[in-house]
Amino acid sequence: MASEPTTVTITGAGGQIGYALLFRIAAGDMLGEGRPVRLRLLEIPQGLRSAEGAALELQDCAFPLLHGVELSDDPRVAFEGADICLLVGARPRGPGMERADLLAANAGIFGPQGAAIGEVAADDVRVVVVGNPANTNALIAAASASPGVPAHRFTALTRLDHNRAVGQLAEALDARPGDIAGVAIWGNHSATQFPDAAHATVRGEPVIDALATRLGGVEAARAWLDDVFIPRVARRGAEIIEVRGSSSVASAANAAIEHVRDEQRGTGGRTTSAAVVSRGEYGVPEGLVCSFPVVSDGEGYRVVEGLDLDERGRARFEASVAELEAEREAVEALGVL
Ligand code: NDP
Repeated sequence: MASEPTTVTITGAGGQIGYALLFRIAAGDMLGEGRPVRLRLLEIPQGLRSAEGAALELQDCAFPLLHGVELSDDPRVAFEGADICLLVGARPRGPGMERADLLAANAGIFGPQGAAIGEVAADDVRVVVVGNPANTNALIAAASASPGVPAHRFTALTRLDHNRAVGQLAEALDARPGDIAGVAIWGNHSATQFPDAAHATVRGEPVIDALATRLGGVEAARAWLDDVFIPRVARRGAEIIEVRGSSSVASAANAAIEHVRDEQRGTGGRTTSAAVVSRGEYGVPEGLVCSFPVVSDGEGYRVVEGLDLDERGRARFEASVAELEAEREAVEALGVL
C-alpha cells in the first residue's frame, strides 16, 4: 500500500531556486522513490503567478510520486500540517542597504513564517533556511516558532559550501568527489565561513599528505589551503555570478535537496556540513545557528564533536562566530528576539 504523502512547503517557490527545486523534489530526488509528496508553494502576491506557472509544468510532468500542488500567499495555509519546510524566499540586499536594514527586512519575513510553523506545521516538522542571511534568518524563525516547535528542528544551508569544498579538493587531487571525505564548513554562511580540510581524506589518505606530495611539501600544501582553497570556496558564489552572469541556482537547489535527503535518510556515518542550533559545541554560544561538521542517523543532524582545530583554524572559526553574534545582537536590538 502506498504511504501517506509527505507535505513539503517551499517559500519563494516562484523564484529561481524554487524553479530548480520543485521538479527534483517531485521526481523523488529528495525523499526517495517510495515516498509520495504533496507540494505547498508559498509566495508573496506578486510571485504567485510565477509559482502558478511552475505548478502547471509540474502537472505536465505527470510525476507518479506527486500527490498535488497547492499555492498560497498565506503562511498559515502553506505551513498547515507541513512535514518539511524549505524557506527559500528572502529579501535580497539592495544597493546601499545596511546590514541592519537587511536583517530587519528579513525579520519581517522569517518572524511571521516561524510563528506560523510553530502554530500549524506537523509536530515533527523539519525546516531548512536557504534564503540569506540564512543562519540568522533560521535563528529568527526558530525563536518565532517557540514553543510550538523545538529550535533544533530548524537548520540553515551550508551544504553548498561543503559541496564546493569537496569539488575544489577533488579537482586539485585529480580525484572524484566521492573519494573525498571529512570536509567541514564552520561558522556563518558568508565570506567569513571556514572551509576546513584538516580532517579530510582522499581515498582514505589525509588530504594534507596528498596535497604535500603534489605541491612539494606540507608548507606548500598549507599555503594552497590558506591562499587558494579557502578564499575560492568562500567566494565561489561571486565567481559563478561573474562567469555565468547569473547566480548559482542549480547548485543551491541541489545542495538544499541533499541537505534534507541526508537529514531525513541519514548520512551513513559520513560527515557533511549544516548550520544547526548550537548547544555549546566547540564553545559556540548556545542558540546561534552555526555551521559544523554533522552526521545524521535519519533523526536530524548531530554535531561531530572532538575534532581538533589548530590555532589558525580556531581563529577563523571564532571570527565567523563573532559575525553570527553580531547579527544576533543586531536582531535583538530590533526587538525581534
Ligand atoms: P532566488 O530563488 O535566486 O534566491 C532565493 C534566496 O536564496 C535568496 O535569499 C538568495 O540569497 C538565497 N541563496 C542561497 N544560496 C544561494 C545561491 N548559491 N545562489 C543564489 N541564491 C542563493 O531568488 P529569486 O529572487 O529568484 O526568488 C525569490 C522568490 O522569493 C521570489 O519569487 C519572491 O517573490 C519570493 N519572496 C518571498 C517572500 C516571502 O515568502 N515572504 C519574501 C521575499 C521574496 P542572496 O540574496 O544572497 O542571493
